[in-house]
Amino acid sequence: MELYYMTAHRLHEMLVKKEITAEEITRAVFGRIDAVEDKIRAYVTLTRELAEQKAREVDKAIADGETIPPLAGIPVAIKDNMCTKGVRTTCSSKILYNFVPPYDATVIKRLRENSVVMTGKTNLDEFAMGSSTENSAFFPTCNPWDTSRVPGGSSGGSAAAVAAGETILALGSDTGGSIRQPAAYCGVVGLKPTYGAVSRYGLVAFASSLDQIGPLARDVTDCALLCNIICGHDPMDSTSVPYDKPDYTSFLTGDVKGMRIGVPREYMGEGVEPAVREVIREAVKVFAGMGAEVEETSLPHSEYALPAYYLIAPAEASSNLARYDGVRYGHRAENPADVVDMFMKTRSEGFGPEVKRRIMLGTYALSAGYYDAYYNKALKARTLIKGDFDRAFEKYDLLLSPVAPGTAFKRGEKMDDPLQMYMVDICTFSINMAGIPAISIPAGFVDNLPVGLQLMGKPFGEGDILRAAYAFEQNTGFMNVPDLHHQRMSPK
Ligand code: GLN
Repeated sequence: MELYYMTAHRLHEMLVKKEITAEEITRAVFGRIDAVEDKIRAYVTLTRELAEQKAREVDKAIADGETIPPLAGIPVAIKDNMCTKGVRTTCSSKILYNFVPPYDATVIKRLRENSVVMTGKTNLDEFAMGSSTENSAFFPTCNPWDTSRVPGGSSGGSAAAVAAGETILALGSDTGGSIRQPAAYCGVVGLKPTYGAVSRYGLVAFASSLDQIGPLARDVTDCALLCNIICGHDPMDSTSVPYDKPDYTSFLTGDVKGMRIGVPREYMGEGVEPAVREVIREAVKVFAGMGAEVEETSLPHSEYALPAYYLIAPAEASSNLARYDGVRYGHRAENPADVVDMFMKTRSEGFGPEVKRRIMLGTYALSAGYYDAYYNKALKARTLIKGDFDRAFEKYDLLLSPVAPGTAFKRGEKMDDPLQMYMVDICTFSINMAGIPAISIPAGFVDNLPVGLQLMGKPFGEGDILRAAYAFEQNTGFMNVPDLHHQRMSPK
């Protein structure tokens, strides 16, 4: 198998046995980028020279007999909404096209301390608002399984890069599904950790009570290894929780005997395509076959998730995005008449249509006279949704569902209908509102397109999720790679 399609843990073994060098891995990945990036367009910025330099440092450490950390020398791509010192961070928005952060996000600092090789910054829906990466102000990213289709979003660049062999691992962010849904569409593993488990310091804020950074990987082991680096308390983020961080690989035992798993019927209903439902039913059988106790359950307030999310997230976004005014950083309109004109022109020119829609929605929901009717009501719905999960987790260790109601859709298919676009996240919003962790793992295919299985856990129950996900992976082996060479390439 080509180096660029291998897992990080396999590459680590080969590195320490001196069968390969970190420089060879980096060269293989960038060779792959050279070969397929014009078809996929996963990256906004590539950091080839920095990557090669880092790889050489790791090779020197190995040659000097040092023990290297498990992900040293492994290529990792970063969603372009995490601040990287000296490397442009755009959020795929015109308003930040020229922004070079003077500091590293905490997750980036931790990756550097572990000697990973950063390949570059990946494309996203502008400010992470979207489900297809078509809202990028620069260009859409394509799905490696079928390049006429979207990779999902908003972490579409990160998911596509992992699936296409343009990196080994990636970081994404998830506010309502943005790690899990692209992971599902691209056939890779993606984990949204518990709110507070990973520092958000240096993550450009979308909706601060929902945002969370997490890993995208080729298999569950790699996902656990990346969690080991990025999880843990950070005093720089006041929402980061001090907790005893476990070694996440210690949960990869393959044993789920006696685990109690609930399948909420609201997540298997009408909105879900029958073929996807079938794949999830097969997954249920696999878990039952491994000795888990699986049964149907209910999360009765699920229907409020979408409306509540589309009040809370835009409300927070409208406040967070107030800082982009052309004064301190990013784009500034030319020749304004006065300062108010500068704010208006800067923001009109800098933000794309979806971002403007969210700012208007959020400002409306927060405005005097409407606050109680909309924003406050949404918060009440959020409390009910969280209560559903609290009750379910009194009985179950995990909940199981599809990640998305369908597979990757065609580019352009949902761009004219925001509500259709919002609907693709109906199985993922609630998890962010409850603050709990959830993973997407490959569970099968419908018409040659990957289907993701979602496993949701208790707060800080990442261990249970990884345990079950690993057992499933060992029993099914849906870890697979798209063969770009045998694809009909549709015009961009
Ligand atoms: N698709 C959802 C939205 O557009 C979720 C995005 C996200 O998780 N960042 O808001």
